[in-house]
Amino acid sequence: MTELQKLSKQGRADYIRKKLQELYPSPPIPLEHKDAYTLLIAVLLSAQCTDARVNTVTPALFKLADNPYDMAKVPVEKIQEIIRPCGLSPQKSKAISVLSQMLVNEHDGKVPQDWEALERLPGVGHKTASVVMSQAFGVPAFAVDTHIHRLAQRWGLTNGKNVVQTEKDLKRLFPEDSWNALHLQIIYYGREHCSARGCDGTICEICKTSYPNRKKPKIVLKP
Ligand code: SF4
Repeated sequence: MTELQKLSKQGRADYIRKKLQELYPSPPIPLEHKDAYTLLIAVLLSAQCTDARVNTVTPALFKLADNPYDMAKVPVEKIQEIIRPCGLSPQKSKAISVLSQMLVNEHDGKVPQDWEALERLPGVGHKTASVVMSQAFGVPAFAVDTHIHRLAQRWGLTNGKNVVQTEKDLKRLFPEDSWNALHLQIIYYGREHCSARGCDGTICEICKTSYPNRKKPKIVLKP
């Protein structure tokens, strides 16, 4: 019996992009928000927390304050009380308060469309800045979270050394105008099919097409 042909790395990337586009033609942004500021706060809250849980907390928070001017006046303890279900509430509430004051004092109350300025805000790392840049401002970015890091390895698109390398590899393999949608599409696919323990890389169509001869589980590295 002849072995099925394994795709090249670029071949796998092209196939995966087409497949995800078929499955999720216009993926919605999972975190509820109404503008760049409420998105920024929601993304900050989503660190080590599910989007679904963040969406249960933000209505009460945004009822209290949905802009940096109002939020800067809310006592940190009050913010902490509301966001407690999201975890890490002491750090996150302080970050929300200080960040809101910084937006008022340094950016006329607006979320800056600027990588450096965003990453200087407390509680905002490169991943959060990438989500805000892409989803609020439409700037091409590729936010790599643990899910994307894991799937990119299972699909053989990166060696999984760290998230910085994974972001570089994915940006090289996918056209820039596909990055923003792909970030969401990969997350949706991961949630539906590729959980951390749920699969060893041999079950569904994407891995079978990409690696027809894979017999052993694909071991993935954590970021
Ligand atoms: S086979 Fe497993 S790892 Fe590969 S795409 Fe499917 S669910 Fe994900």
